[in-house]
Amino acid sequence: MNQEFPKTYALRHIDESVRIASQSGGAFTAISDWILDSSGIIYGCALNERFLAIHKKAADRDSRDSMRGSKYIQSTLNDTFKSVKLDLLSGKQVLFTGTSCQVAGLKKYLGEEYKKLLCVDIVCHGVPSPAVWKKYLDWQCAKNSAELTRVNFRNKSDFGWHSHYETLYFNNGRATSSKIFSTIFYNHAALRPCCYECPFKSTMHSGDITIADYWGIEKTEPELDDNKGVSLVLINSEKGIKAFEQIKGRVDWKKTKLEDSMQSPLVGPFPKPAHRDQFWMDFENKSFDYIAQKYGRDKLKSRIKIRLILLKNRITKLFSAR
Ligand SMILES: Cc1cc2nc3c(=O)[nH]c(=O)nc-3n(C[C@H](O)[C@H](O)[C@H](O)COP(=O)(O)OP(=O)(O)OC[C@H]3O[C@@H](n4cnc5c(N)ncnc54)[C@H](O)[C@@H]3O)c2cc1C
Repeated sequence: MNQEFPKTYALRHIDESVRIASQSGGAFTAISDWILDSSGIIYGCALNERFLAIHKKAADRDSRDSMRGSKYIQSTLNDTFKSVKLDLLSGKQVLFTGTSCQVAGLKKYLGEEYKKLLCVDIVCHGVPSPAVWKKYLDWQCAKNSAELTRVNFRNKSDFGWHSHYETLYFNNGRATSSKIFSTIFYNHAALRPCCYECPFKSTMHSGDITIADYWGIEKTEPELDDNKGVSLVLINSEKGIKAFEQIKGRVDWKKTKLEDSMQSPLVGPFPKPAHRDQFWMDFENKSFDYIAQKYGRDKLKSRIKIRLILLKNRITKLFSAR
């Protein structure tokens, strides 16, 4: 990398339904559609049948779509690196997406440059332990006397892109939204120990392209912000430039300034919080009711606020349907 990089862009997929289905502005879909159109293979993070994050391979749009949306927990790679190498050796075009440390790990595993490999990393706040997510899901299932059918780590359609509420959907037709897991996430105590020393919490990244939420876009380019999601795109290599040229027809984009696009994970790692040991002691020894109240701020006030937002949405939909 040199002083030329990163090149900074704001991006929104031209298809609004893609943006709604994506976490930010749909950069991942634009890039992966281009790779799929060239008969390439996509590697990315999806949820398994237990709603845990895993990396998988996709060769078509349906399978790729399961990778959309951020899963705010550490994903399991299994034999992904081996599979990427086999695809590259057989001459296929490959897109690998993941956290910056996963991209760096893949590059180290491969040990050499492959012309047909494009790597896209996400700006990453840090990854919570899946154990916390799992206990949270078990707790919610028990509370709702039901099984899960779907989860949304950050429900943009009901709460808007600027908010962070998770929604869980159950087989009894009910759904529950809260900020319990997201509050635990932003408290940082549940993050993996290596996240506190992450070398990628900077503007230098391991991917050819880095994608993120374009936080602060409402200040510098307010006309782009409709609360449905804008992607921040950092181009880090010549390969990234070429790929970006290929997707320009699928997106609205604008060149922006790196200094207007800064957010904490582009500056440095979050320090290990003073309460981390206490959190894990409580997690091991107390009920999740206790964890939700103490670390997830599961309070009546926040439950009422969520009900009011959902009620307001319902009323707005009712009137706009008339
Ligand atoms: C744990 C985590 C922390 C994040 N922290 C920040 C942050 O602090 N600031 C910020 O601006 N953006 C952050 N993001 C990135 C952001 O939420 C969006 O994922 C990103 O902007 C892509 O949005 P999109 O609309 O292009 O893609 P979407 O279509 O939503 O695609 C999601 C992409 O993320 C990948 N992905 C999803 N979950 C994981 C996971 N657990 N591990 C590895 N890869 C995953 C998928 O493979 C896919 O490439 C984070 C994402 C994750 C998963």
